[in-house]
Amino acid sequence: MALTNKQFDSIMRIYDQLRLENAAIARDRYAEVVKDCPQIEAIDKQIVKLSFQEAVQRIGGDTGKSDSESDSHSSVLHASGPSLDEQLDELAERKAMYLENLGKPADYLEPIYSCPFCHDTGYIGQEKCTCFKRYAIDLVYHDSNLKNITATENFDRFSYEWYSNDSKDIDAATKLTPYMNMKRIVDACQDFIADFDAPDRVQPNLLFYGTTGVGKTFLSNCIARELLNTSHSVIYLTAVEFFKKLSDNAFADARDKEKTDTSFIVDCDFLIIDDLGTELSNKFTTSRLFYILNERILRNRSTLISTNLTLNQLRDQYSERVSSRIIQSYQMFKFYGADIRIQQKRRNS
Ligand SMILES: [Zn+2]
Repeated sequence: MALTNKQFDSIMRIYDQLRLENAAIARDRYAEVVKDCPQIEAIDKQIVKLSFQEAVQRIGGDTGKSDSESDSHSSVLHASGPSLDEQLDELAERKAMYLENLGKPADYLEPIYSCPFCHDTGYIGQEKCTCFKRYAIDLVYHDSNLKNITATENFDRFSYEWYSNDSKDIDAATKLTPYMNMKRIVDACQDFIADFDAPDRVQPNLLFYGTTGVGKTFLSNCIARELLNTSHSVIYLTAVEFFKKLSDNAFADARDKEKTDTSFIVDCDFLIIDDLGTELSNKFTTSRLFYILNERILRNRSTLISTNLTLNQLRDQYSERVSSRIIQSYQMFKFYGADIRIQQKRRNS
């Protein structure tokens, strides 16, 4: 993942900001709770005191003794009364009880983290956290604008009312009405989301094909939103933007421009290429498309392609190599029905 130093620094500033904000929230919570229940502050003072004693004992107990011996040290010293650990447990219980009386959860005064995995540091050991990847994608692909799209396009707003269930609209190939077909597709998409992190998932890639205005992009965005909500890194690009990023990267030197970082296109958890076939295709686009699709399959990264082209047209436009890779490794769904935008316009007029 090749970010520039400037990009890296601005992500680190996001974490600084998060930690400051969360610390301020935690301070406000504490002040609010202590105002209503001063006993909590007294308990905390005692906890600090006992923890300090315990630390001192541990240092004292470390001299020439093995770990297991020093672990039991405190209980040995206090064989007559409760051990330090027991006293600390008891204080924690009393604190939880006071919080419960105030109607607060037991962890209300624990440190607050926006990311439970890396505690707002961006790293888990040496590895970058998924939240880091998401910030990096937001930064590098700010124009992909996924946040705005997914605010309005999600499963809650998905409606079957635009899909006919009339037998005269049954598709010859699938033998389903547009309505039945859409039900089947939405079910499959929900399974796809549910199995997304399963190690044995069968088919991690999706191809949505069919005419315009029947919900391909809408459904793509529904999936994107669900995966974003579960901390996955998602990139949405129209085919035109997708190939522009790749060509900006490949020809940056020749054009004397700064390189666009395309490593996320290869490596993000979920890549959506929307409207494949609307770009100007040539040898470059064909070879890059094959490289990206193939590389993502090898890395077990999921891709969703939506297109108005049929499978035969895909083969003609992007070569046999590309179309056979898609046939082998993608679940394919045909979208059909009456154009939703035209139906909506008619209703509104
Ligand atoms: Zn994180």
